[in-house]
Amino acid sequence: MSTSKPSTWQVCATCTHWAGSRDVSTFRDRVEYDSDRVRGECVGGGWNRTERSPSATCAQWVKWSVLK
Ligand code: SF4
Repeated sequence: MSTSKPSTWQVCATCTHWAGSRDVSTFRDRVEYDSDRVRGECVGGGWNRTERSPSATCAQWVKWSVLK
């Protein structure tokens, strides 16, 4: 996991609906993933069943529950 974003950023990578491969940082203040070229499915969110970039966003963003 070589890329990360702060948990306060409202993007797909930090969203509870994003099914891409990711980890949470030690202090739960960042989400970590391989690169901005990866894609993950939006499950039940604003782009349901669509592959989304970790940097994308939408109005139905909800913070991933493991993040602070
Ligand atoms: S498209 Fe919206 S609801 Fe779906 S993962 Fe991204 S921010 Fe979350």
